[in-house]
Amino acid sequence: MPSVEYRGMSLVIPENDSEWREHFRLARSHRLMLRACAACGLMRYPPSHGCPWCASLRWAWREVGGRGAIHSYEIVVHAIQPGFKDWAPYPVVLVELDEQRGQPTEHEALRIVANLVTPDFRPEAEASVAIGRRVRVVFQDLAEDFALPQFVLTDEPPEGRVWRFPG
Ligand SMILES: [Zn+2]
Repeated sequence: MPSVEYRGMSLVIPENDSEWREHFRLARSHRLMLRACAACGLMRYPPSHGCPWCASLRWAWREVGGRGAIHSYEIVVHAIQPGFKDWAPYPVVLVELDEQRGQPTEHEALRIVANLVTPDFRPEAEASVAIGRRVRVVFQDLAEDFALPQFVLTDEPPEGRVWRFPG
């Protein structure tokens, strides 16, 4: 795969990094595919080679619905990457997917880091971001075989207590 241009930057995924290459290639068909362990059945993110829960090396891709809630977030005020300087301040969210909530323990789940964007792929306004708000995945196509999974807010009622940074 040649490098992919994104916000003026080159995203280079090494030829031997099969986990991420396949994850982004599958995203191009607008499906969020994660690795599921063939031994214990639990899915994981990032798409690592071994299962973080039981250490098995057997796995298969499994599609998830891409809906969940914001488990945590941060607002990037000073962008380190040049391509994001005109985006700041912008939110980065940790999304807890609906699948596999409370597994393998009450404190762990299937969580993905991504940008929170508007439907036209601009950064979502800081005032709209809060822990507990519902989101769904969207796919930003960057090349023939590469799309970035991102998240947008939905109108679904939030889960539990809604919290955001004061101020
Ligand atoms: Zn496992």
